[in-house]
Amino acid sequence: MTANNFRHIIMVGPPGSGKGTQAAILAEKLQITTISAGELLRAEARTGSELGKQIAARIDFGKLVPPEIIVRAMIQEIAKPENSAGYIMDGFPRSMDQVGLFDEAISKEPYSDKNLTPDLVLFLQVPDDYIYDRILGRSQCAKCGEMYHEKFKTPKVFGVCDRCGGKEFTKRADDTYETVVSRLRTYRSVTAPVIPYYEEKGLLKCIDGTGPIDVVSEKIRKVVGY
Ligand code: AMP
Repeated sequence: MTANNFRHIIMVGPPGSGKGTQAAILAEKLQITTISAGELLRAEARTGSELGKQIAARIDFGKLVPPEIIVRAMIQEIAKPENSAGYIMDGFPRSMDQVGLFDEAISKEPYSDKNLTPDLVLFLQVPDDYIYDRILGRSQCAKCGEMYHEKFKTPKVFGVCDRCGGKEFTKRADDTYETVVSRLRTYRSVTAPVIPYYEEKGLLKCIDGTGPIDVVSEKIRKVVGY
């Protein structure tokens, strides 16, 4: 496989490492879909369903939702015909349990003939002080969801969303200091073990996630080769 044939990509890294931002940029370049595990779960939480309430309770405390729920949701998304050109999974898999369930499901009917196997895992590395700074400074357009940051990505016109012109900005409910502490603890104990797993499979590429957005996306461009 030549570098620019990567079309089944996993984006892994601690909370606030820039996975969502970089996944969106890369997906546009490669003309494939980015599927954010966190977004899928927040969308279900917003419906107010029984499942949504259980999910919200986990997210609000910085805990992972049960693996069966997120694995099923992610596979259903990547297997959709409109995503047949490829995918970037942002924030999934996030534990070895999820890796096991995912690998098993994509190797069996009805998914085994769809070629859903990952071919590249991008690991965004950032130190802890970056994480707090990035997460606590970020906000989102209430209308279209575009992400901003008080230091690293401000709207071109103060108070106006670049993408949709919206004038209301919100913060994610789980972007608080206490929740970040919990999310980082979960990341270290439960998510970090997926990194050596993908390294052994020869799929892992480490990216220095510090620095401005365009500097990091340039590093990713070189690795992906588009
Ligand atoms: P994120 O948007 O990636 O920062 O994720 C926000 C929250 O959604 C996490 O703190 C978890 O509570 C939940 N979440 C996201 N991805 C996963 C996943 N792969 N497995 C379980 N829970 C997840």
